[in-house]
Amino acid sequence: MASLPPALSGGKPAQRSGSPTPARAASAPPLPPSGLGLASDRARANMVDGLSRTGVRDPQVLDALMQVPRHQFVEPALASRAYEDVALPIGHGQTISKPSTVARMIELAAAHLPRARRPAARALEVGTGCGYQAAVMARVFGQVVSIERVRGLHEQARANLRSLRLSNLRLAFGDGHQGVAQGAPYDAIVVAAAGDAVPEPLLEQMRVGARLVAPVASGGRQALHLVERVSAGEWQLTVLDAVRFVPLRTGTT
Ligand code: SAH
Repeated sequence: MASLPPALSGGKPAQRSGSPTPARAASAPPLPPSGLGLASDRARANMVDGLSRTGVRDPQVLDALMQVPRHQFVEPALASRAYEDVALPIGHGQTISKPSTVARMIELAAAHLPRARRPAARALEVGTGCGYQAAVMARVFGQVVSIERVRGLHEQARANLRSLRLSNLRLAFGDGHQGVAQGAPYDAIVVAAAGDAVPEPLLEQMRVGARLVAPVASGGRQALHLVERVSAGEWQLTVLDAVRFVPLRTGTT
């Protein structure tokens, strides 16, 4: 079963006691890599502009994309490409999803929640990777849990996210096929890797009325599936566009 450690940044000093790096918590967040300060703000604004022109409508999702410095989630050699609408390698054979994909998945997963309900909403991400999408989700939903099966990426995400101090985001290590029961029920679930079906525990961890968005593979193709839990025993599926995600794997490593 997945363990669920305390919140990442901890808004209150008490939550940080016992942390191995207390000095960091008291100091200002580190600056972005040199030369990327204003340039990255501009590049990010252009990226968000492009996304809004190509169909992302949810203002809160667009705001969230504007707030999260994507260049801090890729290795320095790739930082100059961080605001292109492309997937980039993050090590361990995995990729950071395209910004347009992140935007679409979160927009779909949050569409049933009016803005006023989002601060009280709970969301789960399966497949933390470098932590970028988790950070965007943490700007949209009140509480976010994200689970990753590759230890090295789980640690990398923790390091990438530290300076953002998102006290409403928790990272879990484990196989996301089981979901994270401790944080359930969720109002929104986003799966960032493609399986042959949506894992049963994820369906069970949805609140009635919740939405889940996941890529599902079949016959060598993948499509985005949107699942809505309409009652305790009924889920409604809508199959959306063709997509391309890394595979959802079993177990941890
Ligand atoms: N959310 C990331 C995308 C990461 S790619 C972003 O912000 O761009 C998908 C991730 O899913 C990979 O890191 C992969 O290791 C992870 N993954 C695959 N199968 C998984 C599983 N069963 N449980 C948890 N994570 C899984």
